[in-house]
Amino acid sequence: MQLKCAHCYQSFNATTIEQTRGKGLLTQVQCPHCDAWLSRHKWLTLGKLIGFYIALSMVIYGVFFGGKMMVVVPLLILSVAMFVASHMMDHLVVIEPGKDAEQLEAEKQANKGEGAEE
Ligand SMILES: [Zn+2]
Repeated sequence: MQLKCAHCYQSFNATTIEQTRGKGLLTQVQCPHCDAWLSRHKWLTLGKLIGFYIALSMVIYGVFFGGKMMVVVPLLILSVAMFVASHMMDHLVVIEPGKDAEQLEAEKQANKGEGAEE
């Protein structure tokens, strides 16, 4: 899963995250590029979960009980739309800013100059 840092705008893989804190919906992760602390948007994540479970329960209801399609189908469409919309808007928000662009640039230059360290 690719994530984009809301502070330095660089993409990183979820597997390269070294530091996390908190748990559940409010888990915060540290950007491997600039050390900023990032978190998912609480309400969008919640909206996505709710949309997903309503859609799932509507499908289960439709498959096992049938009937009431006048209720099941519109609810299914609405919840899927809610899931898709919150999924597309879902992005990371900065909790604690990390290094700024100048610091990152200086670091990059330093790394280039020193070559392979360690
Ligand atoms: Zn970053």
